[in-house]
Amino acid sequence: MAYPTEKQLTHLRELLDKQETAVLIRARVNVPDDTDSCDTTDAEDTFSNMEFAELADIEAAKKRMSEGQYGLCTECGCTIAYARLEAYPTAKRCTHCQRLHEQHRR
Ligand SMILES: [Zn+2]
Repeated sequence: MAYPTEKQLTHLRELLDKQETAVLIRARVNVPDDTDSCDTTDAEDTFSNMEFAELADIEAAKKRMSEGQYGLCTECGCTIAYARLEAYPTAKRCTHCQRLHEQHRR
């Protein structure tokens, strides 16, 4: 059974919480100075796109957890290896689909 057990889920949830906190801290500390748009300078609590996307990923992962869909690939429905989830708690695709996705995007 590849699907994360309760214990693994608890651990992954902690990882997500930690990641979320780290992103929030980074977003607050990070003053964008290499942006080429000129209307973001005084937006102290505006997240960069990257941080926003990361937070959205974390929220989506938590939502999948509460729905019992966590650890399932959103593309093919197969189970995502626990080692991968531990490395990337926000992973929503299995290694195979992620590779296809990245190739496609390029
Ligand atoms: Zn897949």
